[in-house]
Amino acid sequence: MRAPEDPPYLATRAVHAGNEVDPGTGAIRRPIVAANSYALPDDPSGLDWSGTDTALYTRNGGANQGWLEQKLCALEDPSGVTPGGCAAVALASGVAALHAVFFTFLRSGDHVVSSDVTYVATHRLLAELLPERYRITATLVDSADPEAVRAAIRPETRLVHVETPANPTTRITDTDAVAAIAHEHGALLSVDATFATPVLQRPLERGADLVVHSLTKYINGHGDAMGGAVLGRHELVDRIRADAMVDAGGVISPFNAWLIMRGSITLPMRMRAHCASALQVARFLEADPRIAYVAYPGLASHPQHELATRTLDGGYGGMLAFALDGGPELQNRFVANLRVITSAVSLGHDESLIVHVAGSDDDPRGRRFPPEFRRYGHLRLSVGLEDPRDLVADLEQALSRP
Ligand SMILES: *Cc1c(COP(=O)(O)O)cnc(C)c1O
Repeated sequence: MRAPEDPPYLATRAVHAGNEVDPGTGAIRRPIVAANSYALPDDPSGLDWSGTDTALYTRNGGANQGWLEQKLCALEDPSGVTPGGCAAVALASGVAALHAVFFTFLRSGDHVVSSDVTYVATHRLLAELLPERYRITATLVDSADPEAVRAAIRPETRLVHVETPANPTTRITDTDAVAAIAHEHGALLSVDATFATPVLQRPLERGADLVVHSLTKYINGHGDAMGGAVLGRHELVDRIRADAMVDAGGVISPFNAWLIMRGSITLPMRMRAHCASALQVARFLEADPRIAYVAYPGLASHPQHELATRTLDGGYGGMLAFALDGGPELQNRFVANLRVITSAVSLGHDESLIVHVAGSDDDPRGRRFPPEFRRYGHLRLSVGLEDPRDLVADLEQALSRP
């Protein structure tokens, strides 16, 4: 039993945090506040037009955005481990959130150490766009090896950025270990925790300075809105708000903030179902001789299975990657034969989604995938909320077709 002063349990926070009775109407749900401008005080002469602490203009902060941010903090840091309290900023997409971190904390001449397997836009920002446009350089390493992170640090390293579990390989990074290394060298650690959500992993409790989520994925959970968020100490998040949000834009729309707030109510129960079904699907695939490999942190064959067990709470997530033992035509035929699982990008939706990415010696984007991903390509599967027996049956029938 929790003590009365402790925060409520996760499922309770997911239902109630950020919601209040609307004082204007008495409605028991927060309304959608679509106005993009707010009433000014009688004497606005003292206002900072780039400020974020008075209701002014939606690019300086909107009502639905603020309620969603309250909820995200309640999910990510319920016990207040973040010094000075947790702050969140919700933005237009996960990529807007990642860009906001890089834009706010990096200057020309600065250096980043990043995982060499990340979401494709993160990789392109760090490996191509930031070096070309702003002379911000990055060293990409296998972040599952903390010593590789340490060896890549330079005097001008300002940020270590990792994704755990990583998209699409499901590589796990030891957040405690890389946080210690980053901090020894005066750098910040940001963790893209989109795959795990705050239900399975809370990097702020493990020393991360900033946590990034694509809200588009599990936190919204229904495949019908885009959003992103960064969470961390007030002093850091306030800088993101002032620089990247107000002056570079990328704000979340009130409607999307409202949809994500609604979708997130069921996040804890959805994650339990995603985890249980993904484990069942991963075990089914691994046992089938027609499958070349399966990458899922919940399998004993996963290279960081022990670390995943130690650092993820109550499950290994809903994402896995695998390939059939064959070439790209076989993978395409298999996907075309699926009846329940939909071929589409994105992930964390209610419906199961699969995407085939062909293998090659080098990922065209320069990411360093493991050898089996290069040889067979990969099918990234986001295990949805359908009955897992239907998912296994669908995979089985598609495997058995010529
Ligand atoms: C999808 C994704 C993103 C980008 O989020 P968007 O909302 O699509 O911009 C970032 N990181 C990870 C791990 C993702 O899966």
